[in-house]
This record gives sequence, C-alpha cells and structure tokens, in this order.
Amino acid sequence: MAAKIQVTNLKKNYGSNEVLKGLDLSVAEKEVVCMIGPSGSGKSTFLRCLNKLEDLTSGSIVVDGHDISDAKTDLNVIRQNIGMVFQHFNLFPHVTVLENIILAPVELKKETREEAVEEAKRLLAQVGLSDKADAAPNSLSGGQKQRVAIARALAMKPDIMLFDEPTSALDPEMVGDVLDVMKQLAKDGMTMVVVTHEMGFAKEVADRVVFMADGYILESSTPDEIFSHPKNDRTKDFLNKVL
Ligand code: ADP
Ligand code: MG
Repeated sequence: MAAKIQVTNLKKNYGSNEVLKGLDLSVAEKEVVCMIGPSGSGKSTFLRCLNKLEDLTSGSIVVDGHDISDAKTDLNVIRQNIGMVFQHFNLFPHVTVLENIILAPVELKKETREEAVEEAKRLLAQVGLSDKADAAPNSLSGGQKQRVAIARALAMKPDIMLFDEPTSALDPEMVGDVLDVMKQLAKDGMTMVVVTHEMGFAKEVADRVVFMADGYILESSTPDEIFSHPKNDRTKDFLNKVL
C-alpha cells in the first residue's frame, strides 16, 4: 500500500540555520507516529512542513500521492485534508464554541449552516463537551479549549491529524481528557503524527516512535524497542532525562 505521507531527504534552513538536515519518514494510512526529542531539535518545524506552513529548502513531501513541494499542487485541498492542533489553541474569542467549529466548514467547504451545526454537535459529543456549544471560549478551561480545538480541526473531515505538543500548556489534571480524545481518534483509524512529551501516551498509542535530535531522525522504531531497548546513545540519554 502506498504511504499516506512520504517524506524524502527533507531539509529546511532558516537563513544559515540548518534546522532539518535530511529527514526521511514514511507514514502509512491509519498509522500513529509519535515524535519525541529535545527542545530545538526541529519537531515543530517538521510538522509545519508537512502541511506546507513552511517552504521546504529541499527534498520532497508526498501526501496521498500529491507532491506538496510541486508548485502545481493545490495546497488548499491538501490543507483541508490535514488537521492541525497546536500547543496554544487559538480559538476565536468573540464567538461561541459552536461558531468556532462551523466557521471553516461553512466558509471553506461550503457546507450549509445546518449540516455544519449538526456535525459540530456530533463532534462536541465526541470530545465530551456537548453542554458547551453556546459557551464563550474564554469561559472554558485549557483542557476544554484544547478539545474544542480538536473538534474544530475534525470539522473539516481531515484524514490526517498533526498534533504539536497538544497537552504541554495544560494543567496536569486536564491532560488526561485531551489524551483520551486522541486515543479514541487513533482507535477510530485516524492517521496521526503527534509531537509529544507524554511518554505514556507514546508507549500506549503509537505504532511507531521517532526520536529527533539536532535536525535528524536518529531512531525510529516500535514503542517497545525505543523505550525498552533504545539503540542510539542520544535516545538513551534523552529517555533517561524524561522517564
Ligand atoms: P522543536 O519543536 O523540536 O523544539 P523547532 O522546530 O521549534 O524545534 O525549532 C528548531 C530550530 O529552528 C530552533 O533553532 C529554532 O530557533 C529554529 N526556528 C524555528 N522556527 C523558526 C522561524 N520561524 N524562524 C527562524 N528560526 C526558526
Ligand atoms: Mg516544538
């Protein structure tokens, strides 16, 4: 089966700063890949390249058979298929939770308001927030905001979801609810790339764990291999610090 995401020799520089130094990664349909590694190693930059929020310096990224580095590729179609959730949720503060979720489907996918509202209610139930449709974003806790952000991304019916440290800004007691939503998504067969410091989540949910440092992928393996038998010294050193 063709890869859902195929990254080949990806390099990304900011000026003279070489951030990604030649990455190869293949993600299969329905696979959950967790990316771990020290701060500054290029994890966020890598995710941003995957939906072309950044221009690539060289190399290629093929998503569902479309080369996103090719100028002829319609990036809007690619981006509509890739949901992204960040550490900071960036909900629109002046409209309700429900309006946050239906905005993009109505504006970009030309869904009727009725269809979008129905889907938004289903998604709010999925993330455990059925009672918050009419709430103002600022009345929610961080964990609730992040679950709305996930529902908002899902409203575009993406078939790939990218998560960049979705629980890093949350109080500890909020983390579990957000991870539970992500676990369920994984079970339902979503293709996911998740940058996370939640090693428990990576162990339990990932099909594969990728260790990045200094702009390289140094190790890529099953959670059991990475956590129980890391091969690279940098991986060992990192895991010693975080586990
Ligand atoms: P990580 O997510 O692993 O912490 P990042 O991808 O955020 O790493 O950053 C990797 C490197 O890229 C850092 O040296 C950072 O300063 C640099 N960097 C990230 N984004 C930008 C940007 N927009 N402009 C210039 N340098 C950047
Ligand atoms: Mg980051």
